[in-house]
Amino acid sequence: MTTSEMIPKLTLNNGHVMPVVGMGTTEFPTTLTPPLLKSVYLDAIAIGYRHFDTASLYQTEQPLGEAIQEAIKLGLIGSREELFITSKLWCTENHPDLVLPSIQSSLRNLKTDYLDSYLIHMPFSVKAGARDFPFPIKREDVVPLDLKGVWKAMEECQRLGLTKAIGVSNFNTRKLEELLAFAKIPPAVDQVEMNTSWQQQKLKEYCAKKGICITAYSPLGGQGSQELVGINPVLTSDVLKEIADAKGKTTAQIALRWLVEQGVSMVVKSFNKERLQQNLEIFDWELAEEERQTISKIPQKNRVSVDFMLAKEGSLNSIDISDIEINEV
Ligand code: NDP
Repeated sequence: MTTSEMIPKLTLNNGHVMPVVGMGTTEFPTTLTPPLLKSVYLDAIAIGYRHFDTASLYQTEQPLGEAIQEAIKLGLIGSREELFITSKLWCTENHPDLVLPSIQSSLRNLKTDYLDSYLIHMPFSVKAGARDFPFPIKREDVVPLDLKGVWKAMEECQRLGLTKAIGVSNFNTRKLEELLAFAKIPPAVDQVEMNTSWQQQKLKEYCAKKGICITAYSPLGGQGSQELVGINPVLTSDVLKEIADAKGKTTAQIALRWLVEQGVSMVVKSFNKERLQQNLEIFDWELAEEERQTISKIPQKNRVSVDFMLAKEGSLNSIDISDIEINEV
């Protein structure tokens, strides 16, 4: 069996199939030039990755698109159909009339005529055209999200065949409930922060009941310097290290295996060949029940929050922060 065949697949609520592990394509702050990004994505395809996570925000769609073309030329894959590609609608395009042009732009960047999943990146909108990168976002630029209108446009993207599935990212159970009340096509995916230090049990149970697949981002605790986001709680966890040492695995592998056993999919970022390989070696062994119990007692703390993305100064106009919060409040 090839490495890509060893990666289990999850069937989404519309029958489309997603490899459980995908590659996160972004680095904050970016240090690699587009040609170097293309080359790491090509390495990932050669190693066996078939699921890629990008977004218009990341500016990685173009190098990923080029890597895919090159992979086909080199015979690493037979065709684009062998891949699962996710992209996302950024907050400045989170307006009904901007959804279609945004997916079309992502498709052009990726040099493909369809995505496998297209996600609303955040449960809030920012004024169209506002300076949106790098963070922080000006508080005054945050505007109410017309979720009904945006979702209708997302549904149209799926009907037009521009994406096989549609979904959301950073939606908590309250926001999902709001969406499910009117969605004609229910979201197939909710991509959220999830790892051993932010286990998302409430959201996990809710999504299982509603047939929504969770994709865990920051499965290894995320990126960013200690000064910016604090210490990485996953890769520095003594609890995980102890289990890893006892099993002859790495801390990262224990963290990723735990997610596999939670029944969710994940997108993990590494731009290093050895670690890319290591992160796929998690399917032919399992955690013992006692180890799962120990992990379930790890203290919980999320890293990503709306407050982190917004400027410290300024104020939100007519929006209650609790309404756009990513995590449960
Ligand atoms: P991850 O938790 O995936 O990775 C964190 C760091 O771990 C990386 O910088 C990587 O560095 C390092 N690493 C990877 N493998 C290993 C290993 N085996 N041993 C030790 N260190 C390792 O962080 P991300 O926050 O990037 O999450 C992954 C992806 O999720 C993103 O790339 C993006 O696609 C998506 N995402 C989505 C968000 C959303 O709002 N929807 C928000 C944040 C992320 P190195 O490259 O040096 O190996």
